[in-house]
This record gives sequence, structure tokens and C-alpha cells, in this order.
Amino acid sequence: MGGATPLPTSRSGAFPAPPVGQPWHARTVDDIQHDLDTRIECGLEAEDISRRRAAYGPNALTEGRRRGPLRLLLDQCADFMVLVLLAAAVVAGFVGEPQDTVAIAVIIAANAVLGFVQEYRAERAVAALKALAAPRARVRRGGEVVAVAACELVPGDVVLLEAGSAVPADLRVVEAVQLRIEEAALTGESQPVEKGTAALGASELPLGDRTNLAYKGTLVTYGRGVGVVVGTGMRTELGRVATLLSDEEEVETPLQRRLRRFGQRLALAVLALCAVIFAVGLLRGEEPLLMFLTALSLAVAAIPEALPAVVTVSLAFGARKMVRQHALIRRLPAVETLGSVTYICSDKTGTLTQNRMRVEAFHVDGALVGAAPQARPDPWPLVLTSLALNNDAVPRGEDDGEGDPTEVALLLAAAAAGFRKRELEARMPRLAEIPFSAERARMSTLHPGAGGGVMVFTKGAPEQVLRRCTARLSAAGTVGLDVPEALAAAAEMAARGWRVLALAYRRLPGMPADRSAAVVERELTFLALVGLLDPPRAEAKDAVALCQSAGIRVVMITGDHPATARAVAGSLGIVDREDPVVTGPELARLSPEELAAHVHRIRAYARVAPEQKIAIVKALQGRGELVAMTGDGVNDAPALRRADIGVAMGRSGTDVAREAAHMVLLDDDFSTIVAAVREGRRIFDNIRKFVKYTLTSNAGEIWALVLAPVVGLPTPLLPIHILWVNLVTDGLPGLALALEPAERGVMQRPPRHPHESIFAHGLWQHAVWVGLLLGGVTLATQAAAYHGGSAHWRTMTFTVLTLSQMGHVLAIRSERESLFVQRPGPNRPLLGAVFLTFLLQLATLYVPALHPIFKTEPLSLAELIVCLGVSTIVFAAVEVEKWMARRGAGLAAPAALR
Ligand code: ATP
Repeated sequence: MGGATPLPTSRSGAFPAPPVGQPWHARTVDDIQHDLDTRIECGLEAEDISRRRAAYGPNALTEGRRRGPLRLLLDQCADFMVLVLLAAAVVAGFVGEPQDTVAIAVIIAANAVLGFVQEYRAERAVAALKALAAPRARVRRGGEVVAVAACELVPGDVVLLEAGSAVPADLRVVEAVQLRIEEAALTGESQPVEKGTAALGASELPLGDRTNLAYKGTLVTYGRGVGVVVGTGMRTELGRVATLLSDEEEVETPLQRRLRRFGQRLALAVLALCAVIFAVGLLRGEEPLLMFLTALSLAVAAIPEALPAVVTVSLAFGARKMVRQHALIRRLPAVETLGSVTYICSDKTGTLTQNRMRVEAFHVDGALVGAAPQARPDPWPLVLTSLALNNDAVPRGEDDGEGDPTEVALLLAAAAAGFRKRELEARMPRLAEIPFSAERARMSTLHPGAGGGVMVFTKGAPEQVLRRCTARLSAAGTVGLDVPEALAAAAEMAARGWRVLALAYRRLPGMPADRSAAVVERELTFLALVGLLDPPRAEAKDAVALCQSAGIRVVMITGDHPATARAVAGSLGIVDREDPVVTGPELARLSPEELAAHVHRIRAYARVAPEQKIAIVKALQGRGELVAMTGDGVNDAPALRRADIGVAMGRSGTDVAREAAHMVLLDDDFSTIVAAVREGRRIFDNIRKFVKYTLTSNAGEIWALVLAPVVGLPTPLLPIHILWVNLVTDGLPGLALALEPAERGVMQRPPRHPHESIFAHGLWQHAVWVGLLLGGVTLATQAAAYHGGSAHWRTMTFTVLTLSQMGHVLAIRSERESLFVQRPGPNRPLLGAVFLTFLLQLATLYVPALHPIFKTEPLSLAELIVCLGVSTIVFAAVEVEKWMARRGAGLAAPAALR
């Protein structure tokens, strides 16, 4: 394949198409290879791929509209209040104060740029996350199996499908082993369709009847197969129906929604207050245009229209940071929810354990041995043969393999005893198979046996295999089987924390016509038990302990044996000796009400079918718990969707689970979930701090302007001052608050209640009293300077307001701890922002060119020192507030939380 001949194309000349009158489903497997100039065994070659990609474009659906940078910038300016303010500034310019117009315009432009930069970066962060979460496909290329991003696929690519894969493009199926595909996304039919490879009639068939085609966006629910790409991107059936498909609708998070509603109500209140300020100013004989501008500036400054946007920015940046900690967020609101998680229900294998299986022991002919002995009486030869042949791992070199870790461990154990899969398969190739699935908990393969017979090898969970056995192979030949005794031996092995599999075989006279499990997997002869060790992850134990201190309960859910579950959960500190381990069959016998009544006492579940996870989630949610649930298989998807935080595995999981999940663990590690919860709490804390800071600052400004006339003072701040405070003082340090590191003790407190208001825990009281204090300090400065006859009273008032806010932002870095002892150390961006604001404030005082704009005058050193001194009052007061909170909590909280 050099790609010299162009591919046959549709009449438009743009895309590969089958010959006229011969739809893809009518072409044979050989035709397909010819039509698409590809070879199933080795796939396309590199140069061919790049040529096709250039010709046919990426395998992506046309994206929905995304706001471009210009639109984003315009959106910043389109705020109604801002427009009114601009108009008023222009009027002011005509009336005679052109500097005002320029200054206001500059500040508004700067504001717009700041908002734009934030939103643009947030959008980019979200887009980057999406790209990371993009599906991948396993393809044969240049003779190797490689994983590529699904958007890289080109017509002619040979794609491997397995249970749990999302079909990445339109494919003509060329190999199928019990391949079943759920096509609900396209046909609405939720029953999976069995796919085959044979060519179908040339006539047009409805989509659901084209059983040798697999369509982009559908899901493999069972079996495995291989398909050749016949359509990509918009040239797929999905592309045809979904001309505009944005894979993730823009969702408002609960917090954003609440803040938006709150903002709207606050806006009305602020507008009313501004009207009052305007009216009172007029009555007092102030200049009408100036009063109008003052009231309007205040409205622009104090209406917190940026709150919801700040939440997005914080969440998006938080999500970006989480990726670095191996937690990929697929849905942004999850970041917010994470902080409130009260239950983490985790799989065992691979999440709490390392998924590095190693065969520890065999139970053969009544004896437990560590490895296959040198002399191998029956049943050893068959035990080792079945380990090698009834195995889906692919051998790599002498002593390695690729595939499911359980399978690889068994492959290596057989190879170590000289039973190599490749050599055995040359003599006894796989004729048929009944694949493994978590529900069946077993798998069987069929191979040629002696004298034209067929050999069946079955392995799986001991309960599943043993009850299909009628005899046992021993050194003395086939003997009777004592099932309870064999099950007890399995339980004993499982109690050591091992995963235990039973091996069995059966000789058939020939290939059965009916190859269903019911016919093949019966009258088996039991061979042996194998015990595999999967060591717990080193970090998992600490992470479980951390959850306990953070008020989060950890529950282990496994498909494994209850004894294995107990041993592993016990070693990680999830269960105590007395705690029950509930099995799937026991769970099935409980009514939803009974489960709801007991669910909070259960810390470990074993032999659970994936479908039962959803019952556990529902029962917990019914008790008001917020549940994070992990899952990796096809059937885990409903539970992942239902959980408050569905967590899928990045390495070992299926596409289906990943697509249903809110978060993907890139390292499959339990402790990553806990790290993400910690990050969720930090982000929520910081949003709270931002809200606290903004509301308090705005309240301070409003109080100063409202109360001034009441105490007989002139308007303390000019429009330019108000806007300046809003942009510089509130803007820069406020944003830097989002970067505040997690507070010490963030994982030593109980989870936040999900319905709890962001204003809980004294936030609004703080905004009221500190706002009043801030306004009071500002007015007191004004009064003292004004009545003291200082010519600089307005400059001093303006300076005290700005600097007091700097003190406030430093004090609220921690909810409880004093700034002076706070750990972790300084948040550099915040300190930088405070310092910069301070310098800018000094510039308005001492750079002569700025005086006409800011209507300021240089303060004397004494005046400046007075301003600095007065500005520490708010800081000191908030430190006292925190001190009192610490004392109160110290008296009330249990020692562990102190
Ligand atoms: P987790 O702890 O993550 O839930 P699991 O034990 O549920 O993992 P599954 O892959 O669902 O893992 O396996 C369910 C059961 O099927 C296992 O406990 C085991 O008895 C059996 N089993 C697992 N892997 C194989 C295999 N490759 N061949 C045969 N049986 C297997």
C-alpha cells in the first residue's frame, strides 16, 4: 500500500464511497479491504494516514458555536449599567469635564480587558480539559496496535472494539466475537444489536438492520470485534443527524445560579440606594450631573455582575490544577460538588489496590502450593495448559504480557512452568469462546482436543465455576467432587486477601452446534484454585484515614469474594472486625426500604453486580448523602451517572464509563479522589472569600456614600474614585484570592452541606458589620480632615478606603487563623496584588500627571502616616473576629478538630 492509487470517492469527489448501488453493508470483507485500500491484519501505513487525513479532515463533528475573542470582549462592555455610565461620561465631557470622560472610559476599558482576560483564559482552560477528555481508539497501524485520539482516524483505519468501547467512527465490521452494540444514540433502540461480518443484501436497509456496520457514537456492550473505518466526522450517520452537536451543554453550576439570583436582587437594592444618593445629593444642592455620575458609578461598582463569572474562572482554573494531580474533570460543576462529598464508594481492584496481580498459590488436589512443582502428576499439565490457553493476555517476549493484569499474571505463571501460550496455541488454537463479563464472573475457551474432540477450559469465580462441576481431576484420575469443601478452601485463600479463581475443563466429542454458556459450561471437571495477590496501594491507607478525619465515609465495592473484600478492606482501615461485608445476593434480597435503613452501616460489599451499585447510590442519596462512586465497566455507567460525582478510570476503564463520569482518574488511584475533594474544598473556600471580600468592600463604599449626608458631610468620593476602587482595589486582590492555597485543616472538618448557602457561617454578618466599619472608618477620616480644615480631605478619604481594603483582604485570607501564623505561607499573587495596589494608590497621590484625573493632591508625610494608621483598623477588627471564632470553636469543637 503506497497509496499511489486514489481511493474510490463519492460523486462529489470528496470522500470514499462504495461502488454505486453497493452500500457498505452489501460489500464483503474482501471488497472492503479493496475499496478502502487497507489490510485488516496490519492496518494503514504512516504516509497513507497523513495523506488521507489531509484529504478527508479530522474525525470530528462540527462544533457548536463558540464565542470568539471579539465577541467575548464586546460582551464585557455590553453590560447595561456600563453603557449608561459611558453615555453619562460623554455628556459630562460636553458639559465641561473632558478628563472625566477620558478617565471613566479608560477605567471601563481596563475593566473590560480584565474581565475578558479572565473569561478567555477560563474558556481556554475548559477547552483544554475537553481535549484531554477526548475519546481514544485502538487501531492497527503499520502492523502494530496503537491507541490514537478518535479524531485522528481516517477512512481505511482498522479499529479494535471491545466491551465498553465507544465506536469512534462509522465502521464496517470485519471480525466479531459475540459483538453487541447498543445504538440508542442513533436509533433510540436501547436493546443491543448483535453484529456480524457477512455481507448483507444490496438493498437499502434501515439503520438498525445493517448488522455489519457499527456507527460512531454507539457503544459496544459485549464481546469484541474489529472494524474498518468507512466514514469519519460529519460523514458518519451521527454527523448526518447531529449537524450541531456541542458535546457539553453549558451548564450553570448550583453556586453560579444562586449567586446570579442573589446578584439580581442585590442589583435592585443597589439601584434603589443609588437613586436615594442621587436624590439626597440634589436636595442638598450638589451639582446634578456630578451626583448622577456618582450614583451611576456606584451602581456599576457595587452591582456584583462578575460573581457568576468568577465562579467559572475559579472552577476552570481549579479543574486545570486538578489535571496536574491526575484528576480530570469532565463536568465543571463537579469541582463545586466535590467539596461536599460525604461518601466515597470505591472499587477495589486497581483503585484501592495496585492491579499488579501475581500468582501466589495453587490449591491442587487438596494441597496448597506456592508454585507448580517440578514433577507434575495430574491435574498439573491441564492446570497449566488451561492457564495459558484460557487467557486473553498477549505474550510479549519471554516473561511479559499485555492485557488484563489477572490474565497476564496467569499467563506468566504458566510460562514460568514452561507452558507458553504461543506454542500451545499453535497446536490447540482457540476455536470459540464465551467471553468474560463481570456478571458471569467466568470465561470459557474451546480448543481442539484429542481424537477430533473439543476441549473446553473454564475459569472464574469459584462459586460460579464449582457449581457447574460434577467431578474433580486428581493424581489418581477423575474422582468425586466435594463442592462445599472446595468452596471452603477458596474462602480460606480469599481470607488472605487473594483473588481466587477456579479452573475447570470438559472434553466434548466435537464442536457443539449450540455454543451458549448453558450448553458448554456444564458437567465440568474441576482442576484447581489459583490465588492471586494484588497488593493494596501504599497511599490508599493514608487517604482512607484522611477521609475519616474529613468526615467522609469510604465504602469498598467489589466483584470479588467476601473474604478477599474483608481482608483488603481491613488492611486499609475501611472495615473493622465487627463490620459486616454484604454480598450482592444478600443485597438483592433487601427491599429498598431495608437497604435505606442499613446502608450507612455497611462499609464493604462483595460479589456485587454493577447494576447493584445504583441501588447503593440511591439508598445513600435518600439519606441526604453526597456520593462519589467509582466504576470502570460498561454496566457501571448508570451508577456513575446517578452518583453526585461519578468517577471513571483513565487507564483501565472503558469509554462508556468515562463518558458517563464527572471525573476521570488518570492514574486510577483512590488517593487522587481524596486529593480532588481537598481541591474542591479549597476552591469553594476561595470563592467564599472572594464573595466575602467583594460584598464587604461594596458595602463599605455604599455606607460611606449613604451616610455622609446623614452626618452632614459632602459626598466623600468622586465617580473616578469609586470606579478606581472597583477596578484596582477590588479587582486585583480579589482575583488573587482564587489562588489562595488550601487552609490548614481543610480536611479536618466535616463536609459542607450541599444545600448550605454560601452566606452561611457568618459570611453575611461579616459583610454587614465589616462593611459598616469600613464605611465608618472612611467617614471618620473624612469628618476629621474636613472639619480639621485639611485641604486634602477627599484625597485622604479615598486613600483610607483603598488601604483599608488591602488590610481586609489580607485578614480574610484565612477564615480562622491569624495572618501572622497562617500556614501555608504567603500567597504570592495576593501579596503582589496588594503591593501593586499600594503603589498605584501612591501614584495617584504623587504623580502630578494623575492629579487632574483623580482629583487628588499629594499628601504630606504626616497625612500619609495617619492614613496608613487608620487603615489598619479594619484589619485589626477582622483579626479580632477570627480570634473570637477560634476561641468559640475551641470551646465547642471536639479536640480532634481544634
Ligand atoms: P473490583 O474490585 O474493581 O470491583 P472485580 O473483582 O469486580 O473488581 P471483575 O473484573 O468485575 O473485578 O471480576 C469479577 C469476578 O470475576 C472476580 O472476582 C473474579 O472472581 C472473576 N474474574 C475476574 N477476572 C477474571 C478473568 N480474567 N477470568 C475469569 N474470571 C475472572
